Amino acid sequence: MPDPISDTPFTQHEGQSNNSSAHDNKDLLIMGGGLAGLTLAIQVKQAHADIPITVLERQQHPVDEAAHKVGESTVELATYYLSEVLGLKQHLDEAQLPKLGLRFFFRPNPEIAEQDRFKNTLEIGAKTLPHSASYQLDRGILENYLAEKAQALGVNFIDGAKVTEVSIGKRTKHHHVKYVSREGSATQATPYWLVDACSRRSPLKRLQGLKKNNNHDVNAAWFRINAKLDLNTLAGQTLANNEAGPARWFSTNHLMGKGYWVWFIPLASGSTSIGIVADEHLHPFDTYNTFDAAMTWLRLHEPVIADFIQPYRGNLQDFRVLRHFSHDCEQVYSSDRWFLSGEAGAFLDPFYSPGSDLIAISNTFITAMIKADKENDAFAQTTVVFDRFYLSMIRNTLPIYQNRYEMFDHATVMPVKIAWDFAVYWSFTAFLFIQDRMNNASELLKLLRYFEDMGRKNEQLQSLFSEWARKAPNQSTATYIDPFDIPELDVLNKGLCQDLNADDFEHQLRKNLALLDGMHNDIIGIVQRDFPMLVSNTVDHQPGSISTLLDRIGYHTAVTA
Ligand SMILES: Cc1cc2nc3c(=O)[nH]c(=O)nc-3n(C[C@H](O)[C@H](O)[C@H](O)COP(=O)(O)OP(=O)(O)OC[C@H]3O[C@@H](n4cnc5c(N)ncnc54)[C@H](O)[C@@H]3O)c2cc1C
Repeated sequence: MPDPISDTPFTQHEGQSNNSSAHDNKDLLIMGGGLAGLTLAIQVKQAHADIPITVLERQQHPVDEAAHKVGESTVELATYYLSEVLGLKQHLDEAQLPKLGLRFFFRPNPEIAEQDRFKNTLEIGAKTLPHSASYQLDRGILENYLAEKAQALGVNFIDGAKVTEVSIGKRTKHHHVKYVSREGSATQATPYWLVDACSRRSPLKRLQGLKKNNNHDVNAAWFRINAKLDLNTLAGQTLANNEAGPARWFSTNHLMGKGYWVWFIPLASGSTSIGIVADEHLHPFDTYNTFDAAMTWLRLHEPVIADFIQPYRGNLQDFRVLRHFSHDCEQVYSSDRWFLSGEAGAFLDPFYSPGSDLIAISNTFITAMIKADKENDAFAQTTVVFDRFYLSMIRNTLPIYQNRYEMFDHATVMPVKIAWDFAVYWSFTAFLFIQDRMNNASELLKLLRYFEDMGRKNEQLQSLFSEWARKAPNQSTATYIDPFDIPELDVLNKGLCQDLNADDFEHQLRKNLALLDGMHNDIIGIVQRDFPMLVSNTVDHQPGSISTLLDRIGYHTAVTA
């Protein structure tokens, strides 16, 4: 096969010379114009109108609506980023769907008849739109819009351009990037700052051998159906608890089972996105890696859902799979002026829809690093702090998912885990970002101690959840839980968008951490009372909202039976 690079003479990238003096005019090249690349281009351009920015995107635009990419559900942090930091609120309100939070359906016990899966269910999910908004994104609609918006701001967006070769310029030397345009001509660019936002294909990560295994072996398959498959009307049944009613359609619905979860996400284009995410050890990938296999798998594990989808087989828009998608990374930012963003860096698990949060955080760090370099303001130290914070955040979050899929069907311990995971997210990560505390490396350094303490506490608790689930009866009552009836969650969610000055912020952060300590004490106290052998450091148990939650779902009756 002809090599497009060696067989075609190079033209110089427009606006550049091959001379390092070109860096008097410092420019940014972003490889990959998906969610991470396009949002970064907009963010940097809005902060530094004078920086020339080019985005190279392999696919030609406009891209398809509905059946474009995975990554449709956003949570509070990414919503703040898209609507407030980038100023896209009008697009989100007018062209995307509002989201009624994350919603989970459990079988109250493993013996429940499958046809009653949605009649006698334990459901966790909000009944009204939460105080802090979030959206369901049709990725095709969004990326077409982002590309137009970036170009309107002056970004040079080149679609149909495939990056074929990269070399890094160490210290002050410029980088070299070769790409082939949609017409087939080979071009060389020599940018000052280089961002790799090519997702899992990441040329920079491969070049430097930065990919790191994280021993979280999960796979996914997903497809879009061109119809509204509303769980609320499931197979002619009415859901047992109607408080959320038709609004359930707007949630990211999780159908929970041992070793897996199945998502239902509504899209603004009118389609429904459905996906299976499962642990390889409990559900081997080859049992659901084609559409026919996935339907057979659903018939076995979620028969009501298989019956629900069956009449719409003719409306299938796509079918995609991703094996071993969870990965860590050795380094994401360098003072040699290269940065990774989005899935090109690290990605753990989509269970709580954190992918676009990671993009928001990473892009905000990259924008701050470019500013530090441009203004000669401690650039090297800034890259070290942000790199450490980002990777420590990834590693502190991993225990939420790693080795937990085995307990995903547990109808009493999982609700407690979900309450704890929501509380950690709203009290710390989302809170810091929405309060604009993640764009300054020295401010962030002061918070690293809290962050690493929280990481240790979380890791211990996540292991305890698994051990507890192995001992406690998997038996709850069929009922409906609105997470905002748990007082801590209501307070933390409402607190995200408060207008806080520096003193108020410190005060609020300490209050958030105290709320978490209270929940932590309650969880440890319950386990120590019921399964003392699982707890090494005993606590003076103060029953609180977790005890109340467990009363509501019938845990105490089951555990003492
Ligand atoms: C199963 C699963 C479910 C997920 N669900 C969610 C979710 O619900 N919510 C969420 O926030 N996140 C989710 N994610 C994460 C989600 O994928 C990310 O949020 C987001 O899509 C990643 O954006 P990105 O820009 O890194 O990658 P992409 O959007 O894939 O963009 C990468 C771009 O790089 C381009 N490219 C690749 N190679 C080259 C090349 N050589 N030259 C030029 N261009 C190139 C590609 O064409 C592509 O457009 C999920 C991930 C998985 C695996």
